[in-house]
Amino acid sequence: MEQNKDLNQFDIPQAKRIYLNNSNSILFKKLLIFSPFLFLLLTIFALRLNRNIDRGPFGNFNFQAQIIHDHRILGHLPYNEIPKDKLVLIEPNIEVHIDMRDSLLKMREEAKKDGIYLVFLSGYRSINLQNEIFYSLKSIRNQEAAERARVSAPPGYSEHSTGFAIDFGDATQRETDFETEFENTDAFRWLMKNAAKFHFKLSFKKNNEYIDYEPWHWRYEGSIEALKVFENSNRKS
Ligand SMILES: [Zn+2]
Repeated sequence: MEQNKDLNQFDIPQAKRIYLNNSNSILFKKLLIFSPFLFLLLTIFALRLNRNIDRGPFGNFNFQAQIIHDHRILGHLPYNEIPKDKLVLIEPNIEVHIDMRDSLLKMREEAKKDGIYLVFLSGYRSINLQNEIFYSLKSIRNQEAAERARVSAPPGYSEHSTGFAIDFGDATQRETDFETEFENTDAFRWLMKNAAKFHFKLSFKKNNEYIDYEPWHWRYEGSIEALKVFENSNRKS
């Protein structure tokens, strides 16, 4: 009786162990077979979660994140139109973002001291005006949108709509206004040497993949708001 009891105690745990081992190995095999599917499911889930976070209605931060995925149209990044209360008129027909005004005017004064006469050709442009420029000139020049986009931004995609972009001319060489030849003027040479001190940066350099070289077009990056606006562009260029 005593011995039987011992045997039973010995047998039962061993039987249980064998059963458990079999079950583990079946489970392992199943996992091995289904692991690629599980991996696929997890990847799809993670991607969907990521997309939902970007599209969530959480204000500016996520709006910026969304832009990062939005990419360009014909090489141009999307830009919002500046709120009207942040626009200031600095001379007839030239409006700019209030953050940029002082620095821009100071730069023109400093240039004058060096005998350089900067002309402001174009500052803020509304999306409506950009619409006219893009579509009217496109048809006049008999160009397709992609060709036109090399020299002009589609509406909603121009740095000029932010109020932080400015086109310069040289008062002594007006024939170079909006021309690549502007790069040979004293004004351009002065800008290349000094503009960074006033937080201006050349937007479309010679090696740009999509957009033609625009030596006259500069943008302001001297405030947090301006840096936020151009964050995506700086990240990719
Ligand atoms: Zn411009």
